[in-house]
Amino acid sequence: MTHAEDWNPTVYLNGEWGLLSEARIPVLDRGFIFGDGIYEVVPLYAQADGARLPFRLTQHLARLERSLGKIRIDNPFDDAGWRALIDRAIQENAGPGDALVYIQVTRGVAKRRGHAFPAGITPTAFVMVGQLAFPTDAARARGGVAVTAEDKRWLNCDIKSTSLLGNVLMAQYAAENDALETIQLRDGLLTEGSSSNIWIVKGGVLLGAPRGPRILEGIRYSLIEELAREAGIAFEERDITEAELRSADEIMMSSATKEVMPLTTLDGKSVGDGRPGAVYAALFDAYQRAKAREFELIRNRAKQGA
Ligand code: PMP
Repeated sequence: MTHAEDWNPTVYLNGEWGLLSEARIPVLDRGFIFGDGIYEVVPLYAQADGARLPFRLTQHLARLERSLGKIRIDNPFDDAGWRALIDRAIQENAGPGDALVYIQVTRGVAKRRGHAFPAGITPTAFVMVGQLAFPTDAARARGGVAVTAEDKRWLNCDIKSTSLLGNVLMAQYAAENDALETIQLRDGLLTEGSSSNIWIVKGGVLLGAPRGPRILEGIRYSLIEELAREAGIAFEERDITEAELRSADEIMMSSATKEVMPLTTLDGKSVGDGRPGAVYAALFDAYQRAKAREFELIRNRAKQGA
């Protein structure tokens, strides 16, 4: 899918559908004033019949519910409600190619600016279909460039908050260094990328930083565990030191928009032999099989429901 600058999807905002260019929120929306909101990004895969199917939607909606709960915003919809909105957003913006669904909920519009939660406020809800191009085969074959930086974010990184300034600065740092991702370190330990989870391979074992407040648990975290099991790759969730990162045989990132992607250069040095590794290749294949299985399941359910 091309990244047309005139992309102007029909979006959902607080009960109404209209063009993105026309969508408006009041200035006192807590999302604008305080970054007081939660979001999700769900990948949509183009199918041979022209449909676009979400991958791991159930898990994304569960994380949305968890994130909202952690900052005490009432979820404006149940799963069925969100699914109906997402289905409609996909229908309204039908077209070729892969895409994504962006969901955002903020605490709502306050009457005046003040930090503490206003009483009796209704959350703002927004759903948009966005453009998405997954990494090309050529980009995967080369692998991505990564740089490292100190993780200076707050210690609630497990909340998928729209307060993303720390992540924004890290992504900008990558862009200014012609890198795909910035890998963050806190107290000498690997945390995660600016918008991805990071995995390393040492002696054939796949390692992931511990789940907890220092990282966002990607929807791909449990998925990678499943894929590793399926591919017969040993996996350990544990602290990863900077020295281990720098001497890793393989490094890869995972996210909704990159799937699993090899990182073959770290701070200007080759990772392993400088080429995507065998563990990456096995996980990538297993990822494609997992997608095929899930899409088959969605199609079968739709047939039964029809
Ligand atoms: N960590 C951060 C900070 C992220 O922004 C993302 C992307 N949402 C991830 C990890 C990966 O999460 P997911 O697999 O759900 O895309």
